[in-house]
Amino acid sequence: MSALAILHASQLVTLAGPKGPRSGEEMSELAIIRDGGMLMRDGNIGVVGPSDEVKEKAGDVESVDAGGRVVLPGFVDAHTHLVFAGDRLDDFERRARGETYEEIARAGGGIWSTVTRTRVASDADLLEKAKKHANWFLQSGTTTVEAKSGYGLTVEDELKILRVIQRLNRETPLECVPTFLGAHAIPHDSSPDEYVDLIINEMLPRVAQENLAEFCDIFCERGYFDVAQSRKILTAAKNLGLKLRGHVDQLTNSGGAKLLGELGAMTADHLEKTDEQGIAALKSTNVQPVLLPGSVYALGSTSYPRAREMIDTGLAVVLATDFNPGSSPTVSMPMILSLACTQMKMSPAEAITASTINAAYSLGRGEKAGSLEPGKLANFSVFDCEDYRELAYWFGFSRAHSVYVRGKKAS
Ligand SMILES: [Zn+2]
Repeated sequence: MSALAILHASQLVTLAGPKGPRSGEEMSELAIIRDGGMLMRDGNIGVVGPSDEVKEKAGDVESVDAGGRVVLPGFVDAHTHLVFAGDRLDDFERRARGETYEEIARAGGGIWSTVTRTRVASDADLLEKAKKHANWFLQSGTTTVEAKSGYGLTVEDELKILRVIQRLNRETPLECVPTFLGAHAIPHDSSPDEYVDLIINEMLPRVAQENLAEFCDIFCERGYFDVAQSRKILTAAKNLGLKLRGHVDQLTNSGGAKLLGELGAMTADHLEKTDEQGIAALKSTNVQPVLLPGSVYALGSTSYPRAREMIDTGLAVVLATDFNPGSSPTVSMPMILSLACTQMKMSPAEAITASTINAAYSLGRGEKAGSLEPGKLANFSVFDCEDYRELAYWFGFSRAHSVYVRGKKAS
């Protein structure tokens, strides 16, 4: 049996509270223990409390001194495109010259250029690169991520990406929740209808049969998949037992949020252009909004989603990085917290709730991750600051001191 205690956190930010995602005022309640500590056994949390009590119960168990730093649950990043080859430096430079996302895509950049590079990459190359990304996440204090396919767009290439995600799970400390995103773009060599049929008749059955994904996602947007095509794909996925998420209302208000509400999706992601009707649709069916301010920032836009309205309406808001090479090249949840507070007027406490416990519930991991409570996985990060608000306040550099997964140091 392996045991470990951590003592003397200036603030042990536990997020202990009701079972289920937090909404409204609950998002501000972090359940902080001053001079807090934790006792862990076999990768699970046993005791959480003031350091002197934990120390007494720990006896001669090995202990780590947090040295008056902040300890909080490992971040849960509920929206990433972690596996890809190549980069999008040319797009980045074009954007700096003033070209739009859609203009860049028409010029051969965008998702399609990453698809081309990912298709030719070998399994080994893709895995090596993905392991590098996994390490970046851990170094930034993130211990669980959702990871999507979507840069293959053929049966074999989509499966190849999902298998890399499966191996990341086995071979690195980062926990990855796999999502199938075959409906990320329409390949140049097929018609939209042909490709929708391929997803429904060939990709989804293989993904389900080989148990390669827990969720199915779609990019519902002008020039990608319209509401009718998105409904068809998501319905087929649901019938195969997959849970649903969706990229909706990012560039235009297409009614995607309403569709996800109707289908009982777990999350609706992006929502930059979602209006009051979309917000009401999410609320009436309790779909969790996943907000991705990193992509708004990196695209040079100022069109942030209406986080304040969503929280005030009672939605259990989630924040995520949308890590991807094109529109959000960051793994840093602290950077996302900064954007959430400065650009979307969330409080630091709401931002932390949105990136830990609420994110965990949005991935079906709320019973195991996202808070520091007895019985949960001992996944936590130590940050080099004394007050949790510093996580959102200092920006542009990492202050993660150390990161633990299942009670073992992972970074
Ligand atoms: Zn995305």
